[in-house]
Amino acid sequence: LSSRLTDTFKNLRTKGKLSAADVDGTVREIRRALLEADVSLDVVKDFTGKVRERALGDEVNRALNPAQQVVQIVNEELVEVLGGDQRRLQFAKNPPTVIMLAGLQGAGKTTLAGKLAKWLKGQGHTPLLVACDLQRPNAVTQLGVVAEQAGVAIFAPEPGNGVGNPVKVAKQGVAEARAKQYDFVIIDTAGRLGVDAEMMQQASDIRKATNPDEVLFVIDSLIGQDAVATAQAFQEGVDFTGVVLTKLDGDQRGGAALSIRGVTGRPILFASTGEGLDDFEQFHPDRMASRILDLGDILTLIEQAQSAFDEDEAKKVAEKIAKDEFTLDDFLGQMQQLRGAGSIKKMMGMLPGMGKMKDQLENFDEREIIRTEAIIQSMTQDERKNPKILNGSRRLRIAKGSGMTVTDVNSLVQRFEQAAKMMKTVARGGMPQIPGMGPV
Ligand code: GDP
Ligand code: MG
Repeated sequence: LSSRLTDTFKNLRTKGKLSAADVDGTVREIRRALLEADVSLDVVKDFTGKVRERALGDEVNRALNPAQQVVQIVNEELVEVLGGDQRRLQFAKNPPTVIMLAGLQGAGKTTLAGKLAKWLKGQGHTPLLVACDLQRPNAVTQLGVVAEQAGVAIFAPEPGNGVGNPVKVAKQGVAEARAKQYDFVIIDTAGRLGVDAEMMQQASDIRKATNPDEVLFVIDSLIGQDAVATAQAFQEGVDFTGVVLTKLDGDQRGGAALSIRGVTGRPILFASTGEGLDDFEQFHPDRMASRILDLGDILTLIEQAQSAFDEDEAKKVAEKIAKDEFTLDDFLGQMQQLRGAGSIKKMMGMLPGMGKMKDQLENFDEREIIRTEAIIQSMTQDERKNPKILNGSRRLRIAKGSGMTVTDVNSLVQRFEQAAKMMKTVARGGMPQIPGMGPV
C-alpha cells in the first residue's frame, strides 16, 4: 500500500497547478491502492469521496504548493478514518477494571493478554489473567506461560470446579480479583477458526456475566477482506468497545485498520507487532496514517529507542544533537544500545523510506553492528568527533585497519550523516521529509 501511494504522490508532485483531471487521476490511484490493500469498498468510497471534494476545493487552489496540500488532505482524512484522536483504555470507577478479549482462534488473544498484563504491570497495576479458553487442551497452559513471562498472576479453573464452564470461571476470576485486590482482570476467551454460533454465544455469556469495562476485539491484520465480515459478526454477537490489531509486523500495513474502524465505528486501542510480550503499543491514528503514507513511524521509533536508552544518556545525546556535536562515537553508542532493544529490523522498518527496502531489511543482521564497531574503532578521536576530515587517504587507512573496504567506510559515514540529520529534524520538532517530496 505504502509504496503505491508514494508513487502516486510523486507523480502529483511533478505538477505545478492541479487541474480537476489531476485530482481525479490521483483519487483513482488512491482508490486502487486502498482496494488492493483490502480496505472495504464502502470505506474506500467514503474516503476517496472526501479527499476528492476537499482536493477540488479552495484550500488547494489557495495553497502555495497544491500537490503538497493534497498530500496533507489525504493524511488528515486517513487519520480521521483511523479514528481521529487516540482513545485510551477505560478504567473502572471501582477496581478491578475488567477487560475481556474476544476474537477468532489464532488472532493473538492469549499473547495479547500477556502483553497487556506486562504493560499494565509496568505502570504499577496488578493485573490478574483469567483463563476462560477451556476449548483447546493447551490453552490454559499457554496462558500460564504467558503470565509467568509477564510476571503476573493467573486464575485458572481448579480441577472439579468450573472445568468446562468458562462463564463460571470468568465470574470466579473477577470475584477473586475483587477479594485479593487485583486492580485489573484480563479475561482470555476461546476462539474458533471461523465465526461460529456456539463460540459467539459463549463470549456473549461471559460478557453478560462479568460486565467488562472494555471488550477488546482482537483481529489479525493479515486476514484481509475477511476482516470486515469477522468484525461485523463479533459486533453483532458480542459487541465490543475497542479493537486490537495484531501482527502489524507483517506486510499488510493498513488495510484492515482502515476497514474495521470505518465499518464498526469502534476505536483501535492497541497494535501488536510481534510474538514477544514487548511487541505492543498504543494505537496512534496519526502515526498509522503516516505509516500508511510511508512517512516512517518516527515517533514510535523514538519512543522505543528511548525505552531502551538510559535516560541520562538520552538527555546527553539530545543536547549534543541540539549543539551539533553528535559524533561517530555517539552513533556507535546508539547502535549498541539499540541492539539492547532487540528489534533493529523492526526499527529500521519504521524509518522513512525504508518501507520499500524490505529485501535489504531481510538481509540486515547484527553483524552490521560488529562491522560498524570495527570501522569506528579504527578511527582516531579527531575523526570520530569530526567526520568531515575523513578524506580519501584517511578512509583507506581506516578500511585497512578494520579489515573492511573503502566502500564500507563510505557507506557508514553516509549513514551517520543521514542519522545526524534526521535526529536534528526530529529534535527540532519537525517531521522528517520524504525524499523528493518536501515536508508534509
Ligand atoms: P489466540 O488463539 O487468539 O489466543 O492466539 P495466540 O495468542 O495463541 O496467537 C496465535 C499465534 O500468533 C501465536 O503463534 C503467537 O505467537 C502469534 N502472534 C500473536 N500476536 C502476534 C503478533 O503481533 N505478531 C506476530 N508475528 N505473531 C503474533
Ligand atoms: Mg488463545
